[in-house]
Amino acid sequence: MSPSGRNSGLRIFPLIKKVTSLMDLIFYSPLSGPVVPLADVPDPVFAQRMAGDGLAIDPLDNRVLSPCLGKVTQVHRKRHAVTLLTDEGVEILIHIGLETVNLDGEGFQVRVSDGQRVSKGDLLIEFDADVIARKAKSLITVVLVANTDRFHPTNPFQGLAEAGTTPFFIVHIEDQPAEGVTPLLDPDLPEVESAPIVVEAEAGIHARPAAALADTARHFKSVVEIVKPSGKAANAKSVVALLGLEIERGDSIRIVARGADAREAVEALGLAARTAFGRTEEKPLVAPVEKIAAPTPAVVGHEEPGVLRGVSASPGVAIGRVAKLVRPVVHVEEFAADSALERKQLHEAVAATRSDLEAEHAEAGESQGEILLAHRIILDDPLLVTEAEKWIGQGKSASWAWQAAARACEKQIRSLKSGLLAGRAADIEDVALRVLWRLTSVEPQLPELTGQSILIAEDLPPSVLISLDRTRLAGFATVRGGPTSHVAIVARSMGMPAVAGLPAVALALAEGAEIVLNGSDGLLETKPTSERLEKIRAVRRHREVLFVENQKTAHQPAVTRDGTRIEIAANIGVAAEAREAVKMGADGIGLLRTEFLFLDRAEPPTEEEHLAEYLAITGALGDRPLIIRTLDLGGDKLPPYFPQIHEDNPSLGIRGVRLSQERPDLYRDQLRAILRIGSRGRYRIMLPLVSGIEEVRELRGVLTSLAEELGVSALPELGIMVETPAAAMLADRFAAVADFFSIGSNDLTQYILAIDRGHPILGRKLDSLHPAVLRAISVTVEGASLHQRWVGVCGAMASEPAAVPLLVGLGVSELSVSIPMVPEIKAQVRSLDLGSCRKLAEKAVELDTATEVRELVKEAFSVEP
Ligand code: PEP
Ligand code: MG
Repeated sequence: MSPSGRNSGLRIFPLIKKVTSLMDLIFYSPLSGPVVPLADVPDPVFAQRMAGDGLAIDPLDNRVLSPCLGKVTQVHRKRHAVTLLTDEGVEILIHIGLETVNLDGEGFQVRVSDGQRVSKGDLLIEFDADVIARKAKSLITVVLVANTDRFHPTNPFQGLAEAGTTPFFIVHIEDQPAEGVTPLLDPDLPEVESAPIVVEAEAGIHARPAAALADTARHFKSVVEIVKPSGKAANAKSVVALLGLEIERGDSIRIVARGADAREAVEALGLAARTAFGRTEEKPLVAPVEKIAAPTPAVVGHEEPGVLRGVSASPGVAIGRVAKLVRPVVHVEEFAADSALERKQLHEAVAATRSDLEAEHAEAGESQGEILLAHRIILDDPLLVTEAEKWIGQGKSASWAWQAAARACEKQIRSLKSGLLAGRAADIEDVALRVLWRLTSVEPQLPELTGQSILIAEDLPPSVLISLDRTRLAGFATVRGGPTSHVAIVARSMGMPAVAGLPAVALALAEGAEIVLNGSDGLLETKPTSERLEKIRAVRRHREVLFVENQKTAHQPAVTRDGTRIEIAANIGVAAEAREAVKMGADGIGLLRTEFLFLDRAEPPTEEEHLAEYLAITGALGDRPLIIRTLDLGGDKLPPYFPQIHEDNPSLGIRGVRLSQERPDLYRDQLRAILRIGSRGRYRIMLPLVSGIEEVRELRGVLTSLAEELGVSALPELGIMVETPAAAMLADRFAAVADFFSIGSNDLTQYILAIDRGHPILGRKLDSLHPAVLRAISVTVEGASLHQRWVGVCGAMASEPAAVPLLVGLGVSELSVSIPMVPEIKAQVRSLDLGSCRKLAEKAVELDTATEVRELVKEAFSVEP
């Protein structure tokens, strides 16, 4: 952070803060062993940073040393965890092994006591690695900064750490609040208290339930405390403080919150508590003081109680009963006596999984078929089996070896790049699990779908979604993933509502509970009243009528009330979808993602193969226009023929049109094929991920010389996708060299907000209605108009009804949407008036947040429900 950035705190809070020091605190590794990134820890509470942020280590020794100078605040009574507090206020949690609370202290010897001061390298706890390895889930030990509301670990170490000497991570210490400063509470704010909750969990409130509570509490502005009958209370947002309460089984606790969102906080924590460890009589919330009578101040963008907010992954609203996807527990023996037998079992399991995939592929629809094919290619990757065999040769069991090989492979993929249409690493995990289940004779537990179910999962592998009975699945919601994950793309193509990026407390919903999944707004309503359900049903009936109505007019143009034509095209990836798009009334195809045609192959497509696909599509389209996007590989789409170059950050690396430099042959074959379509179709060419004017000039040059080579006289239009801030900022210049623009709002949002589009945690912040994204679109339209170029939008934003009036108001003239949305978006456009949309857009670009933009649209057009 820059020095000026550091001083900003001082300017804002000159009276209540004093600067004590500006420095970096180094925390040293407490153990020796390979470092494991938190995301790879096989425990969602730690992997999702619910208990704090830091690192993990797979220990090679058994002595836990203090990572810093500080005070022992508490050694857990089960001796498997210790918390420390530095003089600067950093709270550190060291949790030895996973699920070790169940060992009841067995195998741990504590060498310090509560309140004792320790120096870096002092021995805290010794443990018996054999006992833990045999009796607990894992030896992986996590070291976390628990009060991440104030401090953040940075510069995490990678590789092999040495206890007490390897700097593990750094915490920047900035200005510190003056002693005794506590949050100033407005006494008029409502205070809400829950009914008593009896802790039923065997081990009381240990790290996992404490993390679940703290993670939930941090979503609220109110001060939230957990109070024991003795009156002892702890800040519910601090894992360390909660552990300090030493809450045991049978204890009765209350949740007390004060602040604008106190009621919602108490409800959410109550739900988290009941799920994680407790039981409560379903009494209404108690308001101990009359202040509850005071109306809760309205907070812009704040949800009603009983609402969990994630991000829209696929639009639509569904009512259904919760069905949870629970991953089966697999017990893996590490060692095996007969290596030959293990090898044989491994090959049998791989072969059986291959036949399963082939059988499923034979029955699957096209987009699902592509995923299954991708999985088969992963399965056949010789590296995986070779790596597993290496481990078997060292005496490991086939399942242990396979798991280790798959994890190494996933890790490698994750370090190579960020996303992958829901993560190629996620695909590896998906395939690897199938083999592992075979090896360990575990039956995957598919959820019981009854009537209309809403599937709740931490993560939903595409293969599982494909294998479910779609007639019984009303929609799904996941904690991980975002709007552009693979499974979200599949959901949109199926027209199935979906929400991603929910808080982890969603996993605590009771099986069978009736809930509302609002895929359009990215919400789960966990406690809908019967009136609410009736209202939604009524809206749905109305929508069904509308859908039928909309279909009747879907083949007519979409013209606003004041006579502006907006082209409504569809996005497709394969020829079959072109036929579907025509059926649904699309005016054309605004985006053909050509890489999808050839993603899951070992060899790049030939010119003839390109041509055959394009002719199939133009054949289906008749005289409707087609925009062919040139191969957009790289980033999250890496077929085997892609240049195998190590990139630390592939989203910022060789992606999209940059491929034409690295593999000119791939672009050449594709462009030749496109030119050969000739008069057999109406088509334009579009370049993805453009960031430099020279890229367009160069490609136009290539296109011209190929046309000469082929004797083609009329060159097709050449446009660009506006996906980078550079393309938006320089739109006026690009307009001089490109024939049209299409905004790739998925990538544009990723790059404007600097949030990885596949990020498992930040996904919920990835909102294309962010005013910064709207401003980028506005700049683009302005630049385009200087050269009379038209601007379309082909990212997911175009399919979002809340975004449509804004885009129309910003001056966009084409929307390329997901196929099922064509009739609805056309009908919506017909209801709009350009003048009002312009005013709305002018207001929106002046707002501060995406939430405010959404509120604005909601007020202007009541988007139901
Ligand atoms: C986009 O980025 O918005 C887009 C349409 O391209 P893709 O999602 O294929 O990257
Ligand atoms: Mg893109």
